[in-house]
Amino acid sequence: MTVTDHPRRATGRNTRQRCEIIALLEETSEFRSAQQLHAVLRGRGAKVGLTTVYRTLQTLTEAGEINTMRLPSGEQVFRRCSPGHHHHLICRDCSRTIEVVGKTVEAWTELVAARHGFTDVEHTLEIFGVCPQCASKRG
Ligand SMILES: [Zn+2]
Ligand SMILES: [Zn+2]
Ligand SMILES: [Zn+2]
Repeated sequence: MTVTDHPRRATGRNTRQRCEIIALLEETSEFRSAQQLHAVLRGRGAKVGLTTVYRTLQTLTEAGEINTMRLPSGEQVFRRCSPGHHHHLICRDCSRTIEVVGKTVEAWTELVAARHGFTDVEHTLEIFGVCPQCASKRG
């Protein structure tokens, strides 16, 4: 007996999971870990494993649909960013994230690169701190 190799049904399921995760990331401005996103999906009754969530996040990141970065703690977190070059101001306590654009930073990186003869340069910059709400909670 041969096993019929019909088109993988999983494709449709993967597309749905991608949409679910994108929708979830659009609900918040925060960076979230795979564990956090998985917990929310499970809380809403989705029967999805952490490995699938993690794999979907990687696929979406590779496709440029979502953005990722590492926290100072080493934890990888994900977010759906607006298009265009920008930086992040991130609250260490609540993960609240604000997108910021800094002309001074852009000019400085170009200057430094040019001074050393570097071309085709790029950079990433994340600023971590405590947001006003968390600061007032700390008293
Ligand atoms: Zn961003
Ligand atoms: Zn905060
Ligand atoms: Zn920049």
